[in-house]
Amino acid sequence: MIADLHCHSTASDGELSPDALVRRAMECGVDTLAITDHDTVDACAELHAADFPAIRLIPGIEFSTRWHNMGVHVIGLDIDLESTTLAAAIRQQKVARRERAAEISARLAKRGIEDALDGALSFAGNAQIGRPHFARFLIARGYVRSPGEAFRKYLGAGKAGDVKQYWPEMRDVIGWIRSANGTAILAHPAKYKLTNVRLAALADAFQTEGGQAIEVISGQQPIDVTRRLGKLCTDRGLLASCGSDFHGPGQPWSELGRFGSLPDSCRPVWELWQDRDRG
Ligand code: AMP
Ligand code: MN
Ligand code: MN
Ligand code: MN
Repeated sequence: MIADLHCHSTASDGELSPDALVRRAMECGVDTLAITDHDTVDACAELHAADFPAIRLIPGIEFSTRWHNMGVHVIGLDIDLESTTLAAAIRQQKVARRERAAEISARLAKRGIEDALDGALSFAGNAQIGRPHFARFLIARGYVRSPGEAFRKYLGAGKAGDVKQYWPEMRDVIGWIRSANGTAILAHPAKYKLTNVRLAALADAFQTEGGQAIEVISGQQPIDVTRRLGKLCTDRGLLASCGSDFHGPGQPWSELGRFGSLPDSCRPVWELWQDRDRG
């Protein structure tokens, strides 16, 4: 069984349409897929399970949150797409992302880069706008040659585009996911570059606030990271999730379904849904 429970479509900063994303997942041998766009469920809402009998689709989302002034991503899986709490949360995030984009643009203007908001919006279209759309604008204008360079110079940690104050508290986001009958998962804990002590504090806070699982595997990663995160998970009796964080073709380290297995000691998050389906 290959479950890929983290990937992005054109509804946020991914490159493939929801339909093309599901088809690619099937070609990659994935049998359970969650599309987890940033702060939107548009992709999940537009897909019809009946069109894809060969794959199980789990409704998902990746929320941007704040914890002690640090940006933390929380995945919601198996969420009720009809939830009014979820709909209100997504509306709030849409406003937050739009205001944040204006702030990023103002900061870039101070560095001599004009019209970044309009430029990024033209790349985002109807998608939830994010820094990758600014990266595409910066490349199109010739300021940088690659997304990596755009983040290194303008958008990454400590740079002009690193704006976090618009995100809701992690605690509130976990509450939104739970109230939509979903499972709240701490996304890619290794990406926050925390010390062991800080990472343990984050996992403890996440659990205390109602979080249920940890993303033990995020794309291709060193085995010692998998072991460390597996222990973070089992020490607390949390469930374990896994996903590629696929954003588009051309990034072989995050191809759909292509990552290592969860450690045997971990209880996978899909047990929750299988128990429910059986019972
Ligand atoms: P945002 O949602 O606006 O905070 O943007 C975060 C997104 O930017 C992540 O989900 C990645 O898709 C992308 N990203 C983050 N860091 C980098 C990087 N160094 N190079 C390319 N893309 C990145
Ligand atoms: Mn992204
Ligand atoms: Mn993320
Ligand atoms: Mn992601």
